[in-house]
Amino acid sequence: MSNAKLREAFHAAGMRLTRQRLLICRELANRYDHPDVEKIHQAVRTRLKRILLFTVYRTVNVLEQHGLAWRVTTWKGHARYDGNTHAHAHFLCEECGRIDDVDTQGACHEMAERAHECVPNRQVRRVDMMIIGTCEECLATTGVPTDTP
Ligand SMILES: [Zn+2]
Ligand SMILES: [Zn+2]
Repeated sequence: MSNAKLREAFHAAGMRLTRQRLLICRELANRYDHPDVEKIHQAVRTRLKRILLFTVYRTVNVLEQHGLAWRVTTWKGHARYDGNTHAHAHFLCEECGRIDDVDTQGACHEMAERAHECVPNRQVRRVDMMIIGTCEECLATTGVPTDTP
């Protein structure tokens, strides 16, 4: 997410790259937990108290529309975003909602490269690879009897 690319994207959307918007973009780019808009808002609000949730929504939408961020998935009604747009896979824990990047040993890149063979005559923007299940931490707590009588 270079400043030049950001400026270009916001310009195309008829907006200026303000300090607020830049802060939102940097926040998303520096996180690896695939946050929702509310989480990004909470984080930037510690530095800019008056920033509106609406501003975060609009900013993230511009990033997504211009390929500078991904909407990874929706968990419990909240869209989750990623500032890393290089082909990579994700693991979603259905219990706690954590989303991790997954090393697929090149399978993801291969899939992205071959995607056009699967859908000839169509334009491919990106390929999603999502592994869904239960994470180690949630597995450790599932099935364990509670202390309550
Ligand atoms: Zn979990
Ligand atoms: Zn990711």
